[in-house]
Amino acid sequence: MDADVIVVGAGPTGLMLAGELRLAGVDVAIVERRAGQDLTGSRSRGLHSRTIEVLDQRGIADRFLSEGQVAQVAGFAGTRLDISGFPTRHPYGLALLQKDFERILAGWVDELHVPIHRERDVTGFVQDATGVDVQLSDGTSLRADYLVGCDGGRSVVRKAAGIEFPGWEPTTSTLIAEVHLAEEPQWGVHDDALGRHAFSKLEGGLVGVLVTERHVGHTSEPTLRDLSEALVAVWGTDYGVHSPTSLTRFTDMARQAATYRAGRVLLAGDAAHVHYPVGGQGLNTGVQDAVNLGWKLAQVVNGTSPDSLLDTYHAERHPVAARVLRNTIAQVALLRANDYVKTLGDIITELLTIEEPRRRFAAMISGLDIRYDLGEGHPLLGRRMPDLDLVTANGPLRVFALLHQAKPVLLNFGETGKLDITPWTQRVQLFDAQHAGEWKLPGLGQVKHLLRGDEIDLCRPLPHQQDLVRGQHVSRGFLPESHGGIEIGTRQAMFEFASLGQKPKQIRPGEGRWTRHGCASDGLAGNFGRAAAMLAAARRANAAMVIVGFAVPQVGNVLAPAMYRLGWSCERQSGSTTESAASKPIRHVPMICPAPE
Ligand SMILES: Cc1cc2nc3c(=O)[nH]c(=O)nc-3n(C[C@H](O)[C@H](O)[C@H](O)COP(=O)(O)OP(=O)(O)OC[C@H]3O[C@@H](n4cnc5c(N)ncnc54)[C@H](O)[C@@H]3O)c2cc1C
Repeated sequence: MDADVIVVGAGPTGLMLAGELRLAGVDVAIVERRAGQDLTGSRSRGLHSRTIEVLDQRGIADRFLSEGQVAQVAGFAGTRLDISGFPTRHPYGLALLQKDFERILAGWVDELHVPIHRERDVTGFVQDATGVDVQLSDGTSLRADYLVGCDGGRSVVRKAAGIEFPGWEPTTSTLIAEVHLAEEPQWGVHDDALGRHAFSKLEGGLVGVLVTERHVGHTSEPTLRDLSEALVAVWGTDYGVHSPTSLTRFTDMARQAATYRAGRVLLAGDAAHVHYPVGGQGLNTGVQDAVNLGWKLAQVVNGTSPDSLLDTYHAERHPVAARVLRNTIAQVALLRANDYVKTLGDIITELLTIEEPRRRFAAMISGLDIRYDLGEGHPLLGRRMPDLDLVTANGPLRVFALLHQAKPVLLNFGETGKLDITPWTQRVQLFDAQHAGEWKLPGLGQVKHLLRGDEIDLCRPLPHQQDLVRGQHVSRGFLPESHGGIEIGTRQAMFEFASLGQKPKQIRPGEGRWTRHGCASDGLAGNFGRAAAMLAAARRANAAMVIVGFAVPQVGNVLAPAMYRLGWSCERQSGSTTESAASKPIRHVPMICPAPE
């Protein structure tokens, strides 16, 4: 193998992903068409609050904050949404051009010693059962365990993978440019039946131009002539336009990859979703995709988790981008300049002066309200981990400071020293901590305090994956299912679960075979919720016996008492060896649990 993972594209998404993978010890390389990080054309102008938080979690937010301008940037259809009252350390956005964002991020990736193979294109790939051969434009190829296409909206990786890109056709096409004009234009914003147009003064005599084109459907790169024609169509003159320093065309096409994964090939960022730039959400969504995917891919590559963990990337991030597409489509509709739409827009603006809608839309656009669907439970479940002030034996600490290494964190708010995570010390950091303040979530306000003395919280390593996990809600995919992750669920929580007699749910198809006489399942013990659910379902089905397979013998020590509690008796069988999904031999110790009389 030339690398564990090859990332195609050193744009915002590819850089962030490569950094995350490297932090997790993965051998990652980037292939990039551009010779350097220079960007031609106009792209993102800033970051939303959640992206700043993500960078803060890696200890690099200050690098960006020191070069940009904090500002209230969230908005919907032209209505500014102030987030200064939100419970985050960054209740603002950051005005920072994409070229500067990429430069700073590339500096971080460089410090992490990620190789970038520049000035070559990925032209295709072939995947087989053990890896992917990636073909390059210079005639060479690279082999890796996994390939991730972060190669933008026209993604070669997506096309070569045969992944559909369904969505909405463009209805409007806009040119944005920095140019010189021979004549004075009409400064400011001008809306007409075609759409929005604007002229603004920039430094050095440059003029910022935005003009909606009469025709949609250009597929080539925009030219000065295209710009001139578009200006004439609107203003009757092109104001003597010349010497563009940047010229970009964008449309309101809204498309999303049908799947973010095809075997060993994954998509992230614009390769997975494109939409009109209104609301400034594209780069932000891509960076957050990368952070969701990074730790999962690392767990799989490092043999800690089965590759089914990668399916949770699509499950969690596809709905996020789908929601972004939806809100941008709605905003584009509201930009249309006719009296009907203007009336509708006025009503939306009015609605957004009311506290509840204002708060909800602000939380949506800033990315602070994203919640992954991990089933029912506490309002915090599946949401971002707040950056709490903690009191620890080593003094005061912020939660985000514990996440700089992108390593999972287990926060024990209960009795100090009570938890023993010896089998996982290589991959989980345990901190005994106290937090005195309230728990507040943007868009939700204060939520009931999650913690009682005997409970723990489990943070997945990354933003938005830091689902708060109460004992019985073992985080999806966080701990390797076949490696006995249940132990982290805490013995106490299991007792609680059993004694509360909670209604277990979630028996997924294929996980167990039920008959009146018994049930057999493998890999079951990796998730206490499912284990208990199966036992309860087995009891309802009058099953005579359940056989539970688990990889780590100690799990039995935890599971057995819980089963007794549920009325089952357990008998440990002798061990054998089997193959985990990650192709590493693991111990496999079945436990036979006869049903209660
Ligand atoms: C006018 C405009 C304004 C915008 N404003 C905002 C904003 O304010 N906020 C916001 O969040 N987003 C904004 N966006 C969107 C944002 O620019 C994109 O979402 C973002 O660039 C996506 O990052 P990416 O890394 O996924 O893809 P890209 O930035 O497209 O990066 C892809 C990389 O892959 C490389 N590449 C492509 N194909 C290959 C190949 N075959 N082989 C090797 N390398 C390859 C490219 O050279 C590039 O470096 C705006 C976009 C436009 C057009």
